[in-house]
Amino acid sequence: MIKIPNFYVWGLKKDPTTLRITVFETISQTRAWADEIRTAGKTIGFVPTMGALHPGHISLVEKARSECDYVITSIFVNPTQFNNSSDLARYPRTLEADLDMLHDHGCHAVFTPEIAEMYPTMQKGHWDFGLLSSRLEGFFRPGHFDGVCTVVKKLFEIVTPHKAYFGEKDYQQLAIIRKLTAYEGMDIEIISVPTMREKDGLAMSSRNMRLTPEQRSAALGISKTLFAMREKRKEGISPADLQSFGHALMTHHTDIRLEYLQIVDGDTFEDLTTWNTARAVILFAGYVGEIRLIDNISI
Ligand code: AMP
Repeated sequence: MIKIPNFYVWGLKKDPTTLRITVFETISQTRAWADEIRTAGKTIGFVPTMGALHPGHISLVEKARSECDYVITSIFVNPTQFNNSSDLARYPRTLEADLDMLHDHGCHAVFTPEIAEMYPTMQKGHWDFGLLSSRLEGFFRPGHFDGVCTVVKKLFEIVTPHKAYFGEKDYQQLAIIRKLTAYEGMDIEIISVPTMREKDGLAMSSRNMRLTPEQRSAALGISKTLFAMREKRKEGISPADLQSFGHALMTHHTDIRLEYLQIVDGDTFEDLTTWNTARAVILFAGYVGEIRLIDNISI
């Protein structure tokens, strides 16, 4: 039994005999919880999120549950990874629904700190992982990965997980986190989880809830283009020609403002001239209205 003062418990309104989620708002409570579990010789699985949870997030929680004794999710909209203040202000926040969802899927604890708790000084660090941090998302969202690395490093030090779970949906972020943990010498296993999609192919994203119905159907052009490129690849076309094919398809989707649609080596993030890699990936970013969406597919 974990006994920590000053937290609140979610799920009492439900069946009181079922699991309840312990919700921590401070670093010290979360550390104490983690210490207790580690001292008992049990394992901790960690799922960092920015909330507005959907089944994609839950697939990470379920994977963690299947592999670890205790699962903790963080819900924190991290200000240092937003390079656009209106995007930060409009990011969806649905804490109660999130806690309900986590409760129903057997998550044990949630860490949901205020900004001041995580950032007494609002400073962020800097990491240079070459092309991985400078290309694509790194280029179009300057400082974004420094913000991601800053918050993930802090969270890892607080939660001290044995395993941490990240979605392939944020492909470049996943590659960066692997580099970060290696660079910082952190003994945490990074587990990747496949992208969960809606039935029609749209990659699930917290940002989708901001799309109007018209924008929602326009956004389908993203996954359609990626799937069409994956099919076309089977015809033995070169990476450069496949990329041109994809760009030509995108011109039909006039409601999507393309930032990039790029075929790269998923390890090095270099452009592919031939298919001599086991990890070719097509990465997309673009806007539908004011909403920035990303997606990718391994081919
Ligand atoms: P976010 O709340 O957007 O920061 O995402 C938290 C975690 O959930 C990240 O590791 C994401 O890659 C992952 N994630 C987001 N959307 C999906 C999805 N559709 N399928 C699988 N994982 C996802």
